[in-house]
Amino acid sequence: MVSEKANQIGASPTLKISAKAKAMRAEGIDVVDLSVGEPDFPTPENAKAAGIKAIQDNITKYTENEGLPALKKAIIDRLREDHGLSYTPAEVIVSAGAKSSLFHLFQALINEGEEVIIPAPYWVTYPYSVALAKGQPVIVPTREEDGFLLTPESLKAAITPATKALILNNPSNPTGAAYTRSQLEALAEVVRGEDIFVVADEIYGKLVYDGFLFTPFAALGEDIKKKTILIDGVSKSYSMTGWRIGYTAGPAPLIGAMAKIQSHTTSNACSISQMASLEALRGPQHGVSRMVTEFQRRRNYCLMRLQSVPGLSCFKPQGAFYLFPNVSSFFDKEFQGVRMRNSYGLSYYLLKEARVAIVPGDAFAADDYIRISYATSLENLEKGLDRIVTALAQLRPSPKTKRAALQNTLTRVRKAVPVEPSITVPLRDALLAEMESRLGPSHVYEWNANIHGVIVQLRTNVPHLYDFWMENWYPAQLEGGLEPHGIILAVDGIPGREPRAFFNSETRTGFLVNTDAYGPLRSLALGLVMDTTERMLLSHGLRGMAAEFDGRLLTLVGPPGTRKTELFFELLQDKRFRIHSADQFFVRFTGNAPLADCVERKFFLPAATVEALPALAPLFDGSKCENVAVRKEDCRDAECLRGEDCRLDRGSLYCYKASQEAQVLLDPNWIGGPAAHSKKAPLHWVFLLRLDPTSPALAELDREEALRILESGESPGLKKSLGPARSQPYFNPHLLASSPERMELHKNLWRRLLQSAAVYLFNSGTGKASDLKKIVTGAAE
Ligand code: PMP
Repeated sequence: MVSEKANQIGASPTLKISAKAKAMRAEGIDVVDLSVGEPDFPTPENAKAAGIKAIQDNITKYTENEGLPALKKAIIDRLREDHGLSYTPAEVIVSAGAKSSLFHLFQALINEGEEVIIPAPYWVTYPYSVALAKGQPVIVPTREEDGFLLTPESLKAAITPATKALILNNPSNPTGAAYTRSQLEALAEVVRGEDIFVVADEIYGKLVYDGFLFTPFAALGEDIKKKTILIDGVSKSYSMTGWRIGYTAGPAPLIGAMAKIQSHTTSNACSISQMASLEALRGPQHGVSRMVTEFQRRRNYCLMRLQSVPGLSCFKPQGAFYLFPNVSSFFDKEFQGVRMRNSYGLSYYLLKEARVAIVPGDAFAADDYIRISYATSLENLEKGLDRIVTALAQLRPSPKTKRAALQNTLTRVRKAVPVEPSITVPLRDALLAEMESRLGPSHVYEWNANIHGVIVQLRTNVPHLYDFWMENWYPAQLEGGLEPHGIILAVDGIPGREPRAFFNSETRTGFLVNTDAYGPLRSLALGLVMDTTERMLLSHGLRGMAAEFDGRLLTLVGPPGTRKTELFFELLQDKRFRIHSADQFFVRFTGNAPLADCVERKFFLPAATVEALPALAPLFDGSKCENVAVRKEDCRDAECLRGEDCRLDRGSLYCYKASQEAQVLLDPNWIGGPAAHSKKAPLHWVFLLRLDPTSPALAELDREEALRILESGESPGLKKSLGPARSQPYFNPHLLASSPERMELHKNLWRRLLQSAAVYLFNSGTGKASDLKKIVTGAAE
């Protein structure tokens, strides 16, 4: 339902964790929240009073889009008074929070594909905000040894002709690191020689400790000021987060462009908040110094506590209100058998066991760390740190019997590739020559598979394809003299070619170009075998899930979205049903009885099948996998997308449900043991699946009607939702046949099959596995 773009955006982790802490508190659990990103001080009285007065004075209408002139003046005055910076009103715009300022700025500044350098650890919003503007975030790591500061050398190395801007967050959220004037000068030297802008997010500029002298980037000279966009707001300095006022100061054309964009998003920031902010900025400033004194006291206390924890180290920040301790030494440890593994795991443990909410460093691209906010009372900090210290002391080294890591391969290409199923012989010869020339002798992997009696040779330069190929099929003899019936060349790394598959039926040659995922290779092999055996009228390939009951086979055939998998695994819960095939099988006719063969040694199952049968997860753990999601960002599970209680949050290294592209090569003998796996049985029932809310669960079909549905590849009731792109003749994506006579041949094989097998239309919108079972068991009893 939601856009690809939205799917790729993770919600703010701070907000999520705070929400979790609040929810726990609502349940009566006493949680100490050290995840907050806002000062715990009240809004200054003068600002509050100005807000109330604004309501009384009816300043409750639209204001100037760019902000009230008086507020802009107060911003300009403050920048001049505090830092000697001079701006004109055309160079300043007020927005609904600095977050909104940044959003509008990136929309106004970045063209599609332009790069924005973001030093890491970074505040989570930056890459998302840049990506929403179609920019390319370029993450440049900083090191704790360098005080988490960007060095001129790494800045220089990151700049390319596509670089548009650098985001410099000074002081930084989450590390609290701040740049001295001379450190900024060194960066400015690099910036001077390049055609780039600096987005100086200085929202924590007033919160610096130990007499640190904060310097705005724009103060480094007129030339630098022209390249700098200053971002600030009242959220942090004046403890006014909820009022939502941020501002931007920078070159007038850019401010003008932001104003245009803002006129179509929020319009002006809230009028009442603007009046309150005006007062905060122009009123007495001693509230800020009081806050700074208090934060410094808390920082010192927390630092002292953290630095005395064995195994933990903590950088001393000069600004903001966060501590960013390195907790990686706890990742080898466990509590009651659960290993910490990463910052998410540790944070989950601290929340559940110690009842302290902190933010995992991974959220800021620094998994070895956690972020502790000291924007809360000393009393709370003491309580929270007591709990953290006790909880960390409770962790025990993990026993050496670590479970082997998942055998998971991440491929570059993840989607099905376009197939050209009937290339000419000259084109086949040309492709063969081209691809053979790419297969250097030291990089060729070769293996003959026996797929339903057809010997298919794979030649590839992709070790992963070779590995899965050998695992998937029964081996054919390899002794000299054996001629394969068909050959597939899978060659990756050919410059200038799109991922594609080709097939020539006469020579039984398949080609896979520039794809390293196994699915397309397996599909091409099945297509090649079907083409071979069907032409010889030897056997007939069917795409369906098959299970045996009392010596006879039923198959479920239908497009994706008809709950085929759910239904199938529900049937298999009944131990009288034995698994035969999970995707494709072949039928031979002995006399007229259709005998179905399971031809695969291992099943190539979508990892998300665990949703239908959770008991598969431990079996998957021991299987070879492809593209299992190991990072939250890769999660494509629309149902639980980064939801509460995510496995990856709890320290799991991977999640089978998360990725729709993930596949597993599972030994079917593991599902209930070898006795529960049927390899050959006569096919007795064909259930064509549909899904709609009203039609009957089961309808008997006459053969011609069934053939019509199969031929169209459109399941009644699903037509609309799937669209033409998803309709596959015979619901079989592996079928390479495209010429009319080849399709006719396939149809005739189905016709022959349906002479002895009963065919039904099953509606999984109204029917259950038990309805299906009734037919099968009833007929057999
Ligand atoms: N920049 C940084 C570095 C921040 O930490 C925050 C708030 N967490 C903001 C900008 C945005 O602040 P606001 O939208 O409340 O003005």
